[in-house]
Amino acid sequence: MRRTAALIIGGGPAGCAAAITLARGGVAPLLVERQPAGDALCGGFVSWRTVARIAELGVDPASLGGHRVDGVALFAGRRVHRARLPAPAMGLSRRRLDTELRAAAARVGVTCLSGVAVRSLDAGIATLADGATIAADTLFLATGKHDLRGHARPAAARGDDPTLGLRLRLHPPRDVAAALAGQIELHLFDRGYAGIVAQEDGSANICLAVHRSRLHAAGTPLALLETLAREHPALGARLAGLDATATIDAIANVPYGWRQRDGTPGLYRLGDQAAVIPSLAGEGMGIALASGIDAARAHLAGECASRWQPRFARRVARPMAVAGAARRVAESRWSSPLVALLPPRLIQVMAAVTRVG
Ligand SMILES: Cc1cc2nc3c(=O)[nH]c(=O)nc-3n(C[C@H](O)[C@H](O)[C@H](O)COP(=O)(O)OP(=O)(O)OC[C@H]3O[C@@H](n4cnc5c(N)ncnc54)[C@H](O)[C@@H]3O)c2cc1C
Repeated sequence: MRRTAALIIGGGPAGCAAAITLARGGVAPLLVERQPAGDALCGGFVSWRTVARIAELGVDPASLGGHRVDGVALFAGRRVHRARLPAPAMGLSRRRLDTELRAAAARVGVTCLSGVAVRSLDAGIATLADGATIAADTLFLATGKHDLRGHARPAAARGDDPTLGLRLRLHPPRDVAAALAGQIELHLFDRGYAGIVAQEDGSANICLAVHRSRLHAAGTPLALLETLAREHPALGARLAGLDATATIDAIANVPYGWRQRDGTPGLYRLGDQAAVIPSLAGEGMGIALASGIDAARAHLAGECASRWQPRFARRVARPMAVAGAARRVAESRWSSPLVALLPPRLIQVMAAVTRVG
């Protein structure tokens, strides 16, 4: 059996942030990641706070080539409301971000087992898909949207009408690319919303969070997108290049609003395994990086996981509560009149208070 002082399961933003911080602090972690090239389902909006954390981890944000985002356009009913963001953000594919974070981890000496999946975790021992085992003194669970057997987030957190995430990438025609320049779009609709942002390669990342009842009514993801395009002409214009050959990635049962409040000795839960902020806030990657950095620092300072976990849950409580309230408004049938009451300054304040400090 292989042994390690610190085992990190998952090489997304949370796992990489923990790995880099531990390695810099003198603990040589082992990182296990099942996907050789990361490309998690994500809206691709990298907030200004996340940009700063990426820099802290040794990746120059300017080198990523992300699409600069200064403002938000909120489409509700037939109206569009615009506001400036508190600071510049960027649109970036997860493939690019995860690749650069993993390279930064390798530069500081992190050992990564790539293309290796952990099947289960029990009493400090991880069993891999091929049956091999790794014993670890300390574990960092960073499997993100995917639960590990025996450590799943509670089913009740999904709610009665669970949310699913859908993602597709389109190469927008010139007029749509021009409309997307410098801003992220949020399109609100009954029981869901879509975020659209241009990325470093000129593609538009279109990501939806939508309740299962809407998918059931439509039948398939493609049929749902076609229905939404008919109901919401502005969204329809962005989906103009959609056809039956488009790849639509999907993830089920996203437990928005859930936080891990209790701690387990020797097990730090990071990123989406620690807290799942509604994606319209665009701060999930921020929480992932913050949790990875903070947990690793706590470990280096001798603070046990069972004390750190509730402390981190308190740290994200306010942004999660504000994002949860915004999500309820966004998904309701009353979103159009309610959003019409919002002055641009308030949208900017909400963008600021949904960041993790
Ligand atoms: C619809 C939607 C839109 C979103 N849009 C945004 C946005 O625009 N901006 C933003 O900041 N956040 C957004 N988020 C949230 C963001 O994607 C997550 O919060 C973030 O990816 C969490 O990072 P993580 O490192 O915890 O997990 P992940 O990014 O999911 O990474 C987990 C890693 O673990 C690996 N892994 C999983 N299981 C195993 C295993 N058993 N063994 C080995 N490796 C494993 C995976 O391959 C993956 O690389 C969105 C989420 C959704 C659902």
